[in-house]
Amino acid sequence: MTTTARPERSGAAIDVRGLHKSFGSNEVLKGIDFHVDNGQVVCVIGPSGSGKSTLLRCVNRLEEADQGQILVEGIDVCDPETDLDAVRSRIGMVFQQFNLFPHMSVLRNLTVAQEKVRKRSRKEAVEVARANLEKVGLAGREDAYPAHLSGGQQQRVAIARALSMDPDMMLFDEPTSALDPELVGDVLEVMKTLASEGMTMMVVTHEMGFAREVGDKLVFMDGGVIVEEGDPHTVLATPQHERTQAFLSKVL
Ligand code: ADP
Ligand code: MG
Repeated sequence: MTTTARPERSGAAIDVRGLHKSFGSNEVLKGIDFHVDNGQVVCVIGPSGSGKSTLLRCVNRLEEADQGQILVEGIDVCDPETDLDAVRSRIGMVFQQFNLFPHMSVLRNLTVAQEKVRKRSRKEAVEVARANLEKVGLAGREDAYPAHLSGGQQQRVAIARALSMDPDMMLFDEPTSALDPELVGDVLEVMKTLASEGMTMMVVTHEMGFAREVGDKLVFMDGGVIVEEGDPHTVLATPQHERTQAFLSKVL
């Protein structure tokens, strides 16, 4: 195996303080304090438009914060001096719409960034890719093209691709929302395995079962603020705020 051993880390993987973000006159994040410890799985739920994706995207500066501080492993991502590529290379991202390269085989999807960004040899990149394809249950599909795979398989390839970069943490933005219901389970299983291996994860999801079973913390957002957060079992069983109760009564 060529993947490097993960160093023991403690403390905050992601530490967001007082984050504000507007698009024009639309204030989408209205002062967010958000924290993920190393090895923790934090699930984020909330109605459409509440700012979940914007929060996630601010973490690796796909969106620029207007105000506040965002630390990733203690590094200030908003500081213009920060080497953004170095920070981003520690963060694996998985989106609702898989975002695979359609003109590349599965194997090439997994090796291209390893070679270009991680500067691995082709041989090493292929080894890492094979190990990660096996991990997501897709050993033997190296030569397939994305269009020939089911949505669930494509999403598992996307996860394997992110893992092939040896990230310290994984951010998932509604990874199962675009999938037919019968394909959701396999993707959630892969995510569960990752969590059990100690991967630090931020997961925007509507899968309450996953949040309850796998999440260390559940965060409920509405209208650009964190309304409530805590132990997933507690928040789901006994939500304290009216807005949380109203949301959960619709989705549970
Ligand atoms: P969620 O993921 O919770 O559905 P988003 O973070 O995607 O919410 O969006 C929150 C609000 O920000 C919405 O009103 C959305 O229209 C707006 N928004 C998101 N991204 C952009 C953008 N790039 N430009 C303008 N408005 C945006
Ligand atoms: Mg979203």
